[in-house]
Amino acid sequence: MRIAGRKAGHGRDGERMIPVFNPYTEERIGSVPKATLDEVREAFELAHAIRPRLTRAERAGILQKTAALVREHLHDIAHLITAESGLCLKDALYEAGRVSDVLQFGATEVLKDDGQIFSCDLTPHGKQRRVYTQRSPLLGVISAITPFNHPMNQVAHKVVPSVATNNRMVLKPSEKVPFSAIFFADLLYQAGLPPEMLSVVTGDPREIADELVTNERVDLVTFTGGVAIGKSIAARAGYRRIVLELGGNDPLIVMEDADLDEASTLAVQGSYKNSGQRCTAVKRLLVHEQVAGRFTELVVEKTRAWKHGDPMDPASDMGTVIDAAAATLFESRVNEAVSQGARLLVGNQRQGARYAPTVIDNVRPEMTVVREETFGPVSPIIRFASIEEAIRISNGTAYGLSSAVCTNRLDYITRFIDELQVGTVNVREVPGYRLELTPFGGIKDSGLGYKEGVQEAMKSFTNLKTYSLPWA
Ligand code: NAD
Repeated sequence: MRIAGRKAGHGRDGERMIPVFNPYTEERIGSVPKATLDEVREAFELAHAIRPRLTRAERAGILQKTAALVREHLHDIAHLITAESGLCLKDALYEAGRVSDVLQFGATEVLKDDGQIFSCDLTPHGKQRRVYTQRSPLLGVISAITPFNHPMNQVAHKVVPSVATNNRMVLKPSEKVPFSAIFFADLLYQAGLPPEMLSVVTGDPREIADELVTNERVDLVTFTGGVAIGKSIAARAGYRRIVLELGGNDPLIVMEDADLDEASTLAVQGSYKNSGQRCTAVKRLLVHEQVAGRFTELVVEKTRAWKHGDPMDPASDMGTVIDAAAATLFESRVNEAVSQGARLLVGNQRQGARYAPTVIDNVRPEMTVVREETFGPVSPIIRFASIEEAIRISNGTAYGLSSAVCTNRLDYITRFIDELQVGTVNVREVPGYRLELTPFGGIKDSGLGYKEGVQEAMKSFTNLKTYSLPWA
């Protein structure tokens, strides 16, 4: 791990190390230390002891240089992501490109000042004054906790806005994929980031998670991960700012006028890219009964063509899921749905962490596979008869992250935009579509607090101060 840039914890005895396995080969690719509470506290103290005063130009320069380093090491990064997560090289290369985008957007956003000016003579009791706004970094340290599903991009979405706003951050990456985070931090240090501005601590959440949420130096906790842990952080954080980006259960809704070839392509891409492990992956296919037969045939055909296997094979469309336990959970949820009347059309084979892309039809909204978030390559098809029913089913889970709708009818589109209880509605695109810059995040159980995306995250990581001047 890296405590204010210093390599810490290597070479400890086995008990204080966490092994990291390649989910496909099941080989151990390395291990990271279990940070002690003292080490976590030290990371916060060192961060708190400095007050970064980098100019905007210096911050932009560091981020731009890191973006160039990422592009230079694109293939190394992709291999690292694939080795520790089992995501296929195609997905990993795409992710590495996204990381470079996040850095690039950070580098340009930092050059903008979004300060506002308010004249004060707006009402009869106004004065000859002006009110101005100005942003400053937080007084305390930011604590960031990231999930496994995008080993480097999740990290970039926390770290880049922190650097861009002159903050200090202590990051704890997922213990399943810690190496991408450490590699990313090293690129930033290499690009000139003052090391106290970023620490990466690895460890067992049962030992250190409480400290990460409650340490007295922490002003803001930014967490991306599952709902249960997110809610427990909300309960523990006390009087602190929190940003929670949690699970999703995103629908792709196919209306009767949809282009079925396009809709089925979006369905498989949305369900299987990144092994179905995106918070915004398509988790439910809601299809109008008039076109459900043909749509289902196309989805099955395109699922059969989805090449899955060795993640290091550049031709693979999909590698493994994160581990055998996750694959077993998907298999058992699909089996349960089938025992309750769903029809398995393709897939549901499992071998270790390999889980075949799976389509099940005749799914009902109350089945666990669609009521809960099934974070893997499963396409459950639910039929509906009207737009009212589609909206009701879509809104009928605890989640509200993103959504996709396939239709060209403006009356449908406007209703979906107004009535779906989600953070995003993408028309004729997968739910996950976005720029790294644009606001991103859900409502209901899918998220609380500020949104992410470089621009919103920079706002959430700052305090807004107003000052006023006489303007005679
Ligand atoms: P997870 O919730 O199991 O773990 C996330 C992180 O929390 C890890 O770093 C883990 O070590 C840490 N953690 C574990 N116990 C903790 C505790 N008690 N207190 C604090 N931190 C603790 O999630 P995961 O399995 O790594 O990731 C998958 C989940 O993340 C899915 O639910 C997915 O939808 C969600 N996700 C959400 C978004 C979003 O932006 N909304 C993006 C990606 C993933």
